[in-house]
Amino acid sequence: MFRNFKTISRMVFGRGCFDQLGDILSEQRHADRAGIVFVVDDVFQDTALPKRLPFEPGDLLLWVNVDDEPKTAYVDQLTAQVRQSMSADGQPLAAGVVGIGGGSTMDLAKAVSLMLTNPGSSADYQGWDLIKQPAVYHAAVPTLAGTGAEVSRTTVLTGPQKKLGINSDFTVFDQVVLDPALIADAPREQRFYTGMDCYIHCVESLAGTYLNAFSQAYGEKALDMCREVFLQDVPDSDDKLMMASFFGGMSIAYSQVGVCHALSYGLSFGLGIHHGIGNSIAFDQLDAYYPEGVAEFRRMLDVQGVSLPRGITAAADDALMEKMIDVALGLDPLWENALGKDWKTIMTRDKVRALYRRM
Ligand code: NAD
Ligand code: ZN
Repeated sequence: MFRNFKTISRMVFGRGCFDQLGDILSEQRHADRAGIVFVVDDVFQDTALPKRLPFEPGDLLLWVNVDDEPKTAYVDQLTAQVRQSMSADGQPLAAGVVGIGGGSTMDLAKAVSLMLTNPGSSADYQGWDLIKQPAVYHAAVPTLAGTGAEVSRTTVLTGPQKKLGINSDFTVFDQVVLDPALIADAPREQRFYTGMDCYIHCVESLAGTYLNAFSQAYGEKALDMCREVFLQDVPDSDDKLMMASFFGGMSIAYSQVGVCHALSYGLSFGLGIHHGIGNSIAFDQLDAYYPEGVAEFRRMLDVQGVSLPRGITAAADDALMEKMIDVALGLDPLWENALGKDWKTIMTRDKVRALYRRM
């Protein structure tokens, strides 16, 4: 069976296209359901961005904090806030939810839009195709590029039991607004780590056993653009990085990530290490699996003047280490993509432990 995957319905790309958001949203505002929920990274609180929001009476602005990556409890709290506020305005539900920020904020927006129409806790839906009702209209405006969250069919959440996405066709955004000017002021290191998420998506997709021409086409182009951005610092780097993120996301939509992402999920669950930096730390140990990719990654580190944190797993006691290994080895499709159907005979707990202990 070939995957019949859903992708975003509408997209706009270009410097300054953020200013079209008002027109775009006006099509979603109806007399009985006009209010838009803006889910915005609180890093922008004291910037010019809030003044540019096409905010109208009855809308709701939720500043979100992403110092920790999104948790199911946070999604539930935000959803309750929207329900309370929108019904106070006499509206049954929001007309739409717009996420403005990096991967974490986009994921929060996706999750809130799903939970406004589906009962219970967001933790009940961590998994594949557990969502039954379509979400309310939801749109994304990325302010960092690399995760591919703008195109993917998942919102990655940490719940009480696991770090696992709500994967469903309903998760996919209805609209994305890709304005490269919005990523220009991201802190240099953060931009690099999020960019490396994209680079690693492509390396893992292209080296994987699930690869097909569709994934290869997107992955190779995205990889080329990452090289222009991180090895050559080309003048239109922000534009290229934004499209690389998008293409990288499309590449893994039809293939899968691999060893690095599996290890990174364990780091995140056990030690709270953020996705981009966790990927970078893990990837640096994977010469045996992705030799050319790792060598090029180190050149990018050099050119960009970034030095990776070291010794991060020293704090993990044996029990925590075993839990991290459980999380990593629980991601069957990633290992199967990376190492083939017999991956369990290749990737033992001892090997994972040794890799973690080197980080
Ligand atoms: P992020 O959203 O976690 O943000 C990282 C930091 O950068 C935060 O402190 C944020 O406030 C700040 N920031 C964001 N934009 C900024 C800007 N323009 N200027 C200044 N600061 C800015 O970072 P990310 O790497 O984009 O996203 C990582 C998250 O994405 C993780 O939670 C991960 O699980 C998730 N993710 C999701 C998918 C998916 O398909 N849904 C894929 C990969 C990763
Ligand atoms: Zn990733």
